[in-house]
Amino acid sequence: MNRAFNFSAGPAVLPTEVLQATSQAVLDYNGLGMSIMEMSHRSKEYEAVIKEAQADALKIMNLSPEEYYVLFLGGGASLQFYMLPFNFLKNKANYINTGVWATKAIKEAEKVGTVKVIASSKDTNFNYIPKDYQIDTDADYLHITTNNTIYGTEWKTDPENVPIPLVADMSSDMFAIRRDFSKYDLIYAGAQKNIGPAGVTMVVIKKSFIEKRRQLDNYPSMLDYKLHMENDSMFNTPPCLPIYVVGQTFKWILKNGLEQIEANNIKKAGILYDFMDASNGYYKPTVKAKEDRSLMNVCFNLETPELEAKFIADAKATHNMTNLKGHRSVGGVRASIYNACPIEWVETLIKFMEDFQKKN
Ligand SMILES: *Cc1c(COP(=O)(O)O)cnc(C)c1O
Repeated sequence: MNRAFNFSAGPAVLPTEVLQATSQAVLDYNGLGMSIMEMSHRSKEYEAVIKEAQADALKIMNLSPEEYYVLFLGGGASLQFYMLPFNFLKNKANYINTGVWATKAIKEAEKVGTVKVIASSKDTNFNYIPKDYQIDTDADYLHITTNNTIYGTEWKTDPENVPIPLVADMSSDMFAIRRDFSKYDLIYAGAQKNIGPAGVTMVVIKKSFIEKRRQLDNYPSMLDYKLHMENDSMFNTPPCLPIYVVGQTFKWILKNGLEQIEANNIKKAGILYDFMDASNGYYKPTVKAKEDRSLMNVCFNLETPELEAKFIADAKATHNMTNLKGHRSVGGVRASIYNACPIEWVETLIKFMEDFQKKN
């Protein structure tokens, strides 16, 4: 297979063996003479696909099916920005604002009820994770964004001593590092950053949390977590193919082990940040606080936007390195190095960066 060095922030690189299994399943799933896209979602074969994906997700997180439930929904992480408060915001909610996605989550929650932003790193263009904050004990939940895809910051450790339900948007670092997932009452992740293709969002819900949801009349059924749970994540036709791909990615994660995947991610990000820190300021990581630097999205600047444009163009022209341009809202350069990005890609990028620095 001819693979580009794809540093896209999402949809992003997937493990080659997942792509291969998917290409086979798209043509003929398990010798049934049918594509995975042509099967009834109510068939026993497809039911096994979704049930296994749910069970594997819990296995990776060390969570028990008695306590937690896994949903696969449409609508992206962006639907969760509204669905979460719609179900759980009664009195008020606490949010920590660490970037564009957190800001969007806050904006949606404000449509439902009272939101208090208890900490924000907006003052420094979101280049750190706030450490000082006071949680309102009478709030319905605290929402954090574990990895800030656009600014390249990440909560490396889970918040401590949270006295209220904890909720996280883990879209861009789901299963990239080990966490104490049992600290969370609800986790959501759009698949296209680390666990699969666009079109499906994983939602992990603590069963005791669902009992705290608001009482609602005449609401859209599709927004009700409980209804989706009661219908085994098949209230309507689920995104069958994306769920299959996510399930294959979970098998790949289980085979490698989350601990090993985390170690690889630390190594990959480490060599890239270390190289830049030693470049005499030629490459400038945007996140100065080392403990907050994302393992997934490495954001940096060169001296001028013109030099950055040349860097991105040269990387593409000489090495077929793609999608290195920073998000349109911040500019600069961003190398997204998710789970499926091999360390060799990062080594090749560093080699290119060394050469580029010498020549420019
Ligand atoms: C990409 C991203 C989103 C948006 O996901 P959609 O699936 O496009 O709605 C939300 N949060 C984070 C952290 C993201 O990286």
